[in-house]
Order: sequence, then structure tokens, then C-alpha cells
Amino acid sequence: MTMTHRPLTILVTAGPTREPIDPVRFISNRSTGAMGLAIVKAASRRGHKVILISGHLPLPAPKTVRPVYVETARQMRSAVLEHFAGADIVIMAAAVSDYRPAAPKKGKIKKEAGVLNLQLVKNPDILAGLGERKQNKILVGFALETENLYKNALKKLKEKNLDIIVANQLSARQNVFGSNKTSVLILDKDGGKKYFNNVSKGEVARELIVKVELSL
Ligand code: C5P
Repeated sequence: MTMTHRPLTILVTAGPTREPIDPVRFISNRSTGAMGLAIVKAASRRGHKVILISGHLPLPAPKTVRPVYVETARQMRSAVLEHFAGADIVIMAAAVSDYRPAAPKKGKIKKEAGVLNLQLVKNPDILAGLGERKQNKILVGFALETENLYKNALKKLKEKNLDIIVANQLSARQNVFGSNKTSVLILDKDGGKKYFNNVSKGEVARELIVKVELSL
């Protein structure tokens, strides 16, 4: 491989977090980690060192990495903070649960008559926390939106102090979860804006890695 760029250390998060309700059940989401894994592959192919911190994945991770597996958002935050100092780039492709059960039960919750109320509390925003202490690192976030893709993604880019955001519109026409194809809008902090329609996640991943190489 001819390298036209210096090898970087890229921290990638992938997959969904799981937030326990009791020892048997959890709150999670439909993420399969496919986008995160495509980023790992693209980064490794371009000669970069990759640190993968991941929630549960139904797919195997590439052989180029030894993933650090975590379960909850708070565990993911600890693992990310542990590796943050050594990374040049952080790409948060994980689908972090925004909420967790306030008081997970020690024993399995029994079925009873009537309604079961589950109280949820907010999880820390890992990426926003990194944005506050980013120094000269490049931070990349993802945004999955059901409406106002551009406006919401731009707001997140600014609020979380990111360099790049990859925004995805969730629509009935295209199921992004587990699919190899996706349509994304990539925005950067300098006003750059590029739309990719119905492309493979591998293609988005390659574009993203080249873009971060140019950002440093
Ligand atoms: O605000 P929203 O959840 O849409 O932001 C998505 C981006 O923020 C993703 O890159 C995701 O990995 C990250 N995130 C995070 N911690 C959270 C929620 C989201 O780092 N608690």
C-alpha cells in the first residue's frame, strides 16, 4: 500500500449499548454495528491503528482489531475515556442509549396485574463530553434523524463541538439497520456538505477516513 498520509490512531465506537432493567432484560436499539465495522475496515486498509470499543455485535469484528466489548453507555464512556488520550481521531458510530432504567432490579421482575412503570434517567452524552476536552483531536459523530436531517445534524455538530457529522435519515423506504446500503449527509464544521445517495456503508466509511486524514 502506498501511504500518502501518516498513520493515525483512530478510536471507533460501534453497536448498541444495553441498559439493564433486571438480570434478564435490557433496553437497547436496532443498531447492528455495520457502519462502525465498515469504518474499522476502511481505517485498517489505509494503514491506521484502530481501537474498537463496541456494544453487542451480531457480526464478527475484522481480524485487524481486538475489540473492547462493553454493555452500558456508562461502561462505553469509561472505555472511551481510557483510550482518548492516545487517539488522534474519535469516530462515535455507536448507538448509545440516551436513557437507562433508574434502578435496575437485582432479581427478575415478576409479572403482576396492572401497569408496570419503568423510570428512566438520562445517560451521559459521551461525544459531547469529548467535545468539551477535545484539544487538537478530530471528533466525528453520527446522527440518525426522522425529520429535518440537515437542521438537526448541524445543531448536533455545533452543540457537541464536532469536526464532522454523518447524518442519516430514517425512512420507511430505506431500512438502515443491518442493511449494507445507506444514504447520508456528511457535514463539517467549515460548512462542507456532501450527500451520498444509496451507497454502500463501505463507501461512506472510505470517504470518511479520507476526510479525517485531510482534516488533521
Ligand atoms: O444526540 P444524538 O444521540 O442523536 O447524537 C448521536 C451521536 O452522539 C452519535 O455519534 C452517538 O454515538 C453519540 N452519543 C454519545 N452519547 C450518548 C448519545 C449519543 O456519545 N449518550
